[in-house]
Amino acid sequence: MSYDDQNIFAKILRGEIPSIRVYEDDDTLCFMDIFPRADGHCLVIPKTPCRNVLDASEAQLTSVMASVKKVANAAMVGLSADGITIQQFNEGPGGQEVFHLHFHILPRHEGVALRPPGQAGDMDAIKKIAEKIASHIG
Ligand code: AMP
Repeated sequence: MSYDDQNIFAKILRGEIPSIRVYEDDDTLCFMDIFPRADGHCLVIPKTPCRNVLDASEAQLTSVMASVKKVANAAMVGLSADGITIQQFNEGPGGQEVFHLHFHILPRHEGVALRPPGQAGDMDAIKKIAEKIASHIG
């Protein structure tokens, strides 16, 4: 399986389609999922191409996981979360829909179930939540 640079996250990286950005460094970008399964649902991706964990380099995985940890801790504080679910899918049969490596960060609150996939969120609400997370990233 090869990398297709027309995938939607590659377009977000190139600025061809909009995103609500939470955090970025030289190697990674975190932006909000616009179909949030939990308040604060966001995605961390490498800025360089790879489909998923199966073809990622160790350097890509290392930098992405460092950002996952940074954003997850910021979401814990900024959203007063009780826990964080991290999800990652590989290839279609593994549940992957967008073929640029990404880790889902899903802030969790006691007793609150994840929403079903595919439900569009309110963009103003998502922007406010993104600001709360971003304000706790050092
Ligand atoms: P998956 O490939 O199954 O891990 O999921 C891809 C994720 O990307 C889903 O959670 C979608 O809601 C999310 N998604 C799809 N398009 C966009 C977009 N334009 N901006 C932000 N998130 C998106």
